[in-house]
Amino acid sequence: MVQLAQKVAVITGGDSGIGRAIALQFAAEGATVVINYAHAREKAEQVQQYITQQGGQSLIIQADVSQYQQAQNLIQQTVDRFDRLDIMVNNAGMEIHSPFLDVTEEQFDRVLGVDLKGTFFCAQAAAREMVKRKIAGRIINISSIHEDLAMPQNAPYCCAKGGIRMLTRTICLELAPYNITVNNIAPGAIHTPIDADVEADPEKMAALLKEIPFHRMGQPEEVARLALYLASDASTYVTGSTYVIDGGLMVNTGAL
Ligand code: NAP
Repeated sequence: MVQLAQKVAVITGGDSGIGRAIALQFAAEGATVVINYAHAREKAEQVQQYITQQGGQSLIIQADVSQYQQAQNLIQQTVDRFDRLDIMVNNAGMEIHSPFLDVTEEQFDRVLGVDLKGTFFCAQAAAREMVKRKIAGRIINISSIHEDLAMPQNAPYCCAKGGIRMLTRTICLELAPYNITVNNIAPGAIHTPIDADVEADPEKMAALLKEIPFHRMGQPEEVARLALYLASDASTYVTGSTYVIDGGLMVNTGAL
């Protein structure tokens, strides 16, 4: 039996990497999936094509989630079309590596705009629709191990992901009376386009894999299975939590 029958799920950045894997996983479990993208229409169409071939339902909506009105439109178009919204996955994200001393205001605004502001206002717009319709919805934010673990030369990203950690812990309290759960997934190193520069550098890759107790990167599908748990009836009593999925990286004491 499928686990997400009759559910409507919005996945920001659903065209690529982790978001793509979540879109495919949710569609395979019977959800109608809204594939949001910012720039890569072709990739979104490939995801939609795959879902259609498997007999699933989907809709593509372009929106830059860092723009308040576009985030509102994403949610509005979803409820206009399907008259409900059950699962909001705030996955869209990006990073700009730079030494702290060189970070510009523009870089800061861009990273915080997509990663934190986008998550904040998509979660808010989705929650408003869930409350209005008395839907016991799910909000799942894809943060990062860097919601907790400091990373030099990536300060704006760490600020944004740390912000998502406190956003989740705060709004889960405000949304609990409506039976809406809010949780974070904090991936470690997952094989997606976001880390292409690291993967292309053998020295950086070797150093990274040495730090991971499993000595491999995670696959987007492994993250998607965790997202499915948080979206499904298996997790009705789970809220305000971060689920780390990192092959043991965060607890590595260097003893291995
Ligand atoms: P990815 O393949 O590069 O995907 C990033 C996604 O974000 C793309 O779908 C992109 O859409 C979308 N996006 C970027 N800017 C956007 C905007 N302004 N509005 C809407 N969508 C936007 O990378 P990924 O690894 O799957 O990343 C997904 C999430 O996982 C991110 O939040 C990232 O921080 C987090 N994460 C990843 C890792 C990892 O190791 N891969 C680890 C920890 C956390 P377009 O394709 O249209 O640009």
